[in-house]
Amino acid sequence: MTVSPALTDVLDRIARAAKASGRTRADVTLVAVSKQQTWERVEPILAAGQAVFGENRVQEAMERWSERRSEIELRLIGPLQTNKAREAVAFFDVIETLDREKLAGVLAEEIQKQGKAPRLYVQVNTGEEEQKAGVIPSEADAFIAACRQTYGLNVEGLMCIPPAVEPPGPHFALLAKIAARNGVEKLSMGMSDDFETAIRFGATSVRVGSALFGAR
Ligand SMILES: *Cc1c(COP(=O)(O)O)cnc(C)c1O
Repeated sequence: MTVSPALTDVLDRIARAAKASGRTRADVTLVAVSKQQTWERVEPILAAGQAVFGENRVQEAMERWSERRSEIELRLIGPLQTNKAREAVAFFDVIETLDREKLAGVLAEEIQKQGKAPRLYVQVNTGEEEQKAGVIPSEADAFIAACRQTYGLNVEGLMCIPPAVEPPGPHFALLAKIAARNGVEKLSMGMSDDFETAIRFGATSVRVGSALFGAR
């Protein structure tokens, strides 16, 4: 295994942030967001032992990872169209962007058909931004209940992307609160600029792209 200074640095920062909130590095999964990066940038991180990657497009992920699929855990972190649900269920270990009933229904069908279930996260649009995917906070409880009861889906976690122009802390706190009152265990929150803050608010996984691979 080779050493990647960028990976070592991010893992050290995760470890320090986890420790500061009474946890350890093992409590926080680093999801390396390889979307739109060249293979020349991704390869060294893979070679250094990173085994969990995030992609935001089904097609791009399949092109990049098909040949190495068995070596890594792969997470879909971008919006999922229902017409891509079949491929997404077949290809990803985790889908972090479940955000509407139509998609819940199609995913449930595909999981039945394929006899294989990716772990699922509900995306919450904590900032209630027009252009952003995710269920709004006031509808999150009902949506999580529908996923479980109507569609028989196991909701492993919640995911959010706070508004770029606001301090992220209150958004992370809100996501943690929604998870707690719904008995949801995992929290995917925090990116390159704010993952240490997210860990302080209880993130169990952080999605880091540019701090690992460079600017896109
Ligand atoms: C691109 C992306 C990231 C990574 O962003 P960086 O700022 O490069 O760390 C994380 N989460 C989602 C949903 C993304 O689309």
